[in-house]
Amino acid sequence: MHRRIAMTLIILGLVASGTFALAAEEHPLRAGAATADITPQQWPVELIGSFSKRLAGHAWDRLNARAVVLDNVETRLAFVTVDSCLVPRTLFDEAKRRAAELCGMPADHILTAATHTHSAPRVKNGRNVEAPAHYVEQMTRGIVSALQQATDNLAPAELGWGTCQVPEEVHNRRWFMKEGGIIPNPFGETTDIVRMNPPRGRGLLDRPAGPTDPEVVFLSVRTHEGRPIALLANYSLHYVGGVPGGGVSSDYFGEFADQLAAKLFPDEQRDTLPPFVGILSNGTSGDVNNINFTNPQPRAKPFVRIREVASRLVERVFEAMPAVKYKRSVPLSMAQQELTLKVRKPTPDQVARANQFLAEPDEKNLPMRAKAYADRTLALHEHPGTEAIVLQAVRVGDVGVTSIPCEVFTEIGLRLKKQSSLQPSFTMELANGHYGYLPTPRQHELGGYETWMGTNNLEIEASDKIEAVLRELMQKVAK
Ligand SMILES: [Zn+2]
Repeated sequence: MHRRIAMTLIILGLVASGTFALAAEEHPLRAGAATADITPQQWPVELIGSFSKRLAGHAWDRLNARAVVLDNVETRLAFVTVDSCLVPRTLFDEAKRRAAELCGMPADHILTAATHTHSAPRVKNGRNVEAPAHYVEQMTRGIVSALQQATDNLAPAELGWGTCQVPEEVHNRRWFMKEGGIIPNPFGETTDIVRMNPPRGRGLLDRPAGPTDPEVVFLSVRTHEGRPIALLANYSLHYVGGVPGGGVSSDYFGEFADQLAAKLFPDEQRDTLPPFVGILSNGTSGDVNNINFTNPQPRAKPFVRIREVASRLVERVFEAMPAVKYKRSVPLSMAQQELTLKVRKPTPDQVARANQFLAEPDEKNLPMRAKAYADRTLALHEHPGTEAIVLQAVRVGDVGVTSIPCEVFTEIGLRLKKQSSLQPSFTMELANGHYGYLPTPRQHELGGYETWMGTNNLEIEASDKIEAVLRELMQKVAK
């Protein structure tokens, strides 16, 4: 009798101190994933991401919203990507607002990001051009639907992570040039010290103006029986391109997901439900692309490079898979903060010159793309003056994720990785909005395309301020 009371007291004590719970059941993980087709249904659509007006009348391949929802009883959070490029905060906010209630998680526990394909319909208004309302609504619904289905698919799961290196496909595209290598910018100045996408093999190249990040970080989620649910990867490379005109395409982001699914499910199992969801998110690729400047490659046929890059990524991820350790109890945490930044303002001289360029009837008398940049200069002149941007940090197990709503220079991503107490870690760019390129103050001094007013919209110190907030958010979620 005494012994039984003693036992009961011991058990009660253990329960009260929390040590009674089994470690594996502390945060039992459930995961769900889904895609929603966001290929346009009305044609033609205007493509975004280039200077001249390009129309698409069909799809080379499908555009998708891809979502993965993770839940460990304490916390539910989600990652969603869309095959698109410049997605404004208003669209993402509306999608999160609609999805939050349906999916049982707060809007600030949803990370939304564009993949960075440049062969996608416009969803962001320009100074003289409006995004088609029907497609803005279609993408918004696609995000909500992917999240809702992913939530419906929640099932007991285990999660692991890994990294691999793909250095062959990343090249810094900003170069210090030898004598004669700098050309006048669209404002008619020759003040740039570096040049973006310089001509290859003409002996004018000196050295790249920044690093590259060859790392792929991935999160892998599967059922307790070992059936893959989703794999979310991150790589710091711009779109690959080589998509013929006239059609939309998800570029190498969609191809990665397709090849991954084909390799994981080589046979009839592919049709089992729910379908596996591969996601390739974009890292910090603002100054990095797929052009080998020092060893120029012949122009490939359409889609060839897209397939090559995707298959190299899939191959390396597969090589890293056997080392992944899966856990059924995973800490999840997410923090968000809004940061208000000034937008850049042109001087009265610059405004006058922009108006003068726009009034010039013959574009041949002007520097290259002068009218496009004059227009962008005036857009900044007319801008209310500040932007409130969304910054997020996420913890998934030992993995740290940060998000930035710009095309972020790789050195910023590398620094955030290094400073993170969660390892591995990565940044998703073009997330929760779009505000142009994000160079560092030092890169601003070097000039070049990504720093030009209109390509670049936020204050010169923006990257320092963003990094400071993200460091704090990372500390918060790492606790
Ligand atoms: Zn881009």
